[in-house]
Amino acid sequence: MSAAINKIGFIGIGNMGWHMAANLVKAGFDVSVFDADPMRADEFCAKHKAAAPSLAELALCEVIVCMLPTGPIVRSALLEAEQGAFINNARAGTIVIDMSSSEPTGTRELCAILKEKNITLIDAPVSGAVPRATIATLTIMIGGDDAAVIETVKPVLMAMGNRLFETGGSGCGHAAKALNNYLGATAFAATSEAVQIAKRFGLDPHTLVDILNVSTGKSFISEVVMKEHVLEEKYASGFKLGLLAKDVKIAEGLGQAVKLDAPLLRLVNERWALACERIGYDADNTEAYKGWQDDL
Ligand code: NAD
Repeated sequence: MSAAINKIGFIGIGNMGWHMAANLVKAGFDVSVFDADPMRADEFCAKHKAAAPSLAELALCEVIVCMLPTGPIVRSALLEAEQGAFINNARAGTIVIDMSSSEPTGTRELCAILKEKNITLIDAPVSGAVPRATIATLTIMIGGDDAAVIETVKPVLMAMGNRLFETGGSGCGHAAKALNNYLGATAFAATSEAVQIAKRFGLDPHTLVDILNVSTGKSFISEVVMKEHVLEEKYASGFKLGLLAKDVKIAEGLGQAVKLDAPLLRLVNERWALACERIGYDADNTEAYKGWQDDL
């Protein structure tokens, strides 16, 4: 464990945050957790050596990790929640690591606001989902303007992941994450169409997926997701449909912000928004398959 960092406050112990915070405890950090659902925080403390103080007390930790659904929720947790408990109590020199998949331009704005209080914001979103969060092998995409702070937090990040990438200045980590998830969401939508066409034509979808997995149509989706979660109707990847739809929307906004005409991105965004509307925000993202079965 780093000699420099001892106390970590972890905000958001949901599907991902639970395992990430547990790995920080395992690595020997002194961890305090906070969640909008206090029962979740108490449950965490019953299972792991951690505390669940108020947000005002948690603000005194040297490093605060956020693993919340969206960028606006991160902003509100840090600036507004409980009468500004975090921003009014955090000390100069505090480091915030936003590991949520937030919107990159919003990250840059929040970084500037926190900087006025001498608080440094690093964005460090992750890929690898619940299985890799559990065994601390997440991919972590680091963005930030202060190289020394990034070095300081590496022991914290390495307790949760083992594939660390420094992507550039503030927001670049969040941009990388949104672009990755755009591609994952595209592969899922395209593979779903291929499977549904195969079924209607009388081609066994399991056979199609076997072929894809040893052919050029192979992807993470065909290898890991399509059979287990869709064809076998498990729908339990641990990643909400609404969160993936949000990521594709972030990528679409990023394309617009840099003024690239990206028609495929627009279409994939529409498809995921439709699935979210039809199936529901809290459904597993793999259930999106059921939202795309219209006849011509
Ligand atoms: P989740 O919905 O399971 O967990 C979010 C947690 O935040 C919940 O426990 C909720 O009670 C808490 N919360 C919500 N609002 C809050 C607030 N204002 N203050 C304090 N706590 C609050 O989400 P998740 O799947 O753990 O994802 C978290 C982030 O990580 C999202 O940005 C998501 O896009 C990203 N992500 C998820 C996965 C995955 O596979 N689940 C993988 C990579 C990245």
